[in-house]
Amino acid sequence: MKVGIIGAGITGLGLAQRLTREGHSVTVFEREEQPGGLATFQDHGEFIFDRFYHVILPTDRYLISFIEDIGLGDELCWGTTLTGFFVDRQTYSVSNALEYLKFPPLSLWSKMRLAYTILYCSRIDDWKRLEQITVEDWLLRLSGRATYEKLWKPLLLAKLGENYRRVSAVFIWSYIKRMFSARDKSASREQMGHVRGGYKTVLDRLEETIVQGGGAINLGVTVKRVSAAAECGVEISHDRGTDHFDKVVFTGPVNILQQIVDPALVDVRGSGKNVEYLGVLCMALVTRVPLTPFYVLNIADEQVPFTGVIGMSTVVDTGETAGLYLTYLPKYMLSTDAEMRQPEEKVREEFLHGLRIIYPDLDDADIVSARIHRAVKVQPLQVLNFSEIVPKTATLHPDFFVLNTAQFVNNTLNNNEVIRAVDTFVVQYRDALARDPATSAEQQSAS
Ligand SMILES: Cc1cc2nc3c(=O)[nH]c(=O)nc-3n(C[C@H](O)[C@H](O)[C@H](O)COP(=O)(O)OP(=O)(O)OC[C@H]3O[C@@H](n4cnc5c(N)ncnc54)[C@H](O)[C@@H]3O)c2cc1C
Repeated sequence: MKVGIIGAGITGLGLAQRLTREGHSVTVFEREEQPGGLATFQDHGEFIFDRFYHVILPTDRYLISFIEDIGLGDELCWGTTLTGFFVDRQTYSVSNALEYLKFPPLSLWSKMRLAYTILYCSRIDDWKRLEQITVEDWLLRLSGRATYEKLWKPLLLAKLGENYRRVSAVFIWSYIKRMFSARDKSASREQMGHVRGGYKTVLDRLEETIVQGGGAINLGVTVKRVSAAAECGVEISHDRGTDHFDKVVFTGPVNILQQIVDPALVDVRGSGKNVEYLGVLCMALVTRVPLTPFYVLNIADEQVPFTGVIGMSTVVDTGETAGLYLTYLPKYMLSTDAEMRQPEEKVREEFLHGLRIIYPDLDDADIVSARIHRAVKVQPLQVLNFSEIVPKTATLHPDFFVLNTAQFVNNTLNNNEVIRAVDTFVVQYRDALARDPATSAEQQSAS
C-alpha cells in the first residue's frame, strides 16, 4: 500500500521503518528541515549530538530490540552513572546505598521513610487511584516533610518546574518505576546507555532503511490539510502540493491534528482545552573540562534558574564529542509561560549566572559554547484525573489512523513507550493497513 505518515519524530520514522519492512511504500512528511522531532540532533560546533539529552535504560526492551533490529546493536554503549544533589550550596553523591545512608541533609528516620516510599511505590500496579491525589500530598504522607523538602521537592521542580503542585501522584509513580529499573540490582548501580553518535546515528539508519525500501522522507514540508479522497484513500495537502495515499497515519500532537485533519476523518472527544503542556528551555553547554561526575545533579537552590545538571559526558565518551564535554541545563515550565519566549541572550545570561553558583571555579576560557534550545510542547501536565481530560481520538475513516504520545496517561514520555506503541499499532492494524482502500470504502458504505 502507499502510506503517508505525518511527522518524522521517533514515532513517525519508527512506524515508517516497520511499515517498509511489511512491504508498504511509505512517504513521510516533516515540517522541520531535519528529522527526529524532540529526539533530533544539533550541531554543537565541533561535533553533532542530540539537541536534548537522551539516555536508554537497561529495561527499555522495546527500544533496545528496535535498535538491534535496525542493525545498531553493536553501537549501543552502556555505562555506570551517578546521581547527585546540590543542597545547601554543597554537592552530595547519592549513587549507592552507603552514600544514601551518609546523605547529611536527611536524618536516619527520613532515610527510612524514603526507602519505604520507593519500595511501596515500586509495588503499586493500580495507578488509577493515584490520579486522585497530588504528588505533593502523596509524597508528604509517605515520606514526611523533611524528606519531601530536601529530596522530593527538588526532584519535582527539576522535572516539572513550579507546576508540580497540580500534578497527580501518577507522575512520581511512573518516574520511580522507570528510574529504579535502571539499577543493576546485583551491584546496586545505575546503568544508562546510548547509541554511539547519539540519535543522529539512529535517524540516519532509519532514513537509509526507509529509502532503500522505496520510501521517501520529505523534510521542510508542512502538512496543511488531510481529507478523504473523492473515491477512496486519503489526500495530504502540503505547502508543495497534494498527494494521494491509500492509507495515512498522523503522529503529531492533538492540537495540530484538530487544526489540519478534516473532522469527517477523526473524532476528538473531550475539548482538550484543559490539557496544559510542559515545555523546556535547555542550555547545551560545551566545555573543555568536565563539569560534573553525575548524570543527573538535582538542584535544590532557588538562586539557580535551571533545575538540574545533566552530565551527558558521563554517559558519552569524549571521543564522540571532539574531546569536549557536553552538559545540559534544563528548566521545565508551562508552554504558555512568558519565560518560554524570553530572548535567548537573557536566558543564557541567567543560566550562566546560576552555573557560577554551582561551579564558582569554572573558567570562562573553558566554555566553548552555551546554546539555548527550546521545545514548547514536550508533554502534557499530568494533573489530577488526567486520563479523563485527555482528548480521545477515534478515526472515522477506514484509511486514516492516529498514533501519537498524547495517549500516554500513566507513563513518562520516553522512546521505549514510543516504540512499544508503534509495534502494538503495526500488529493491531496489520489487516486494515493491507486492505485495498476501495474495499474499505465499500465496507464503510455497507456498514
Ligand atoms: C528534554 C528532553 C529529554 C528527553 N529525554 C529522554 C530520554 O532520556 N529517554 C527517552 O527515551 N526519551 C526522552 N525524551 C522523550 C523523547 O524525545 C520523545 O519520546 C520522542 O521524541 C517523541 O517522539 P514523537 O515522534 O512521538 O514526537 P515528536 O518528536 O514531537 O515528533 C512529531 C513530529 O511531527 C512533526 N509535525 C507536527 N506537525 C506537522 C505538520 N503539520 N506537518 C509536518 N510535520 C509535522 C513535528 O515537527 C515533529 O518532528 C526526552 C524529551 C525531551 C524534550
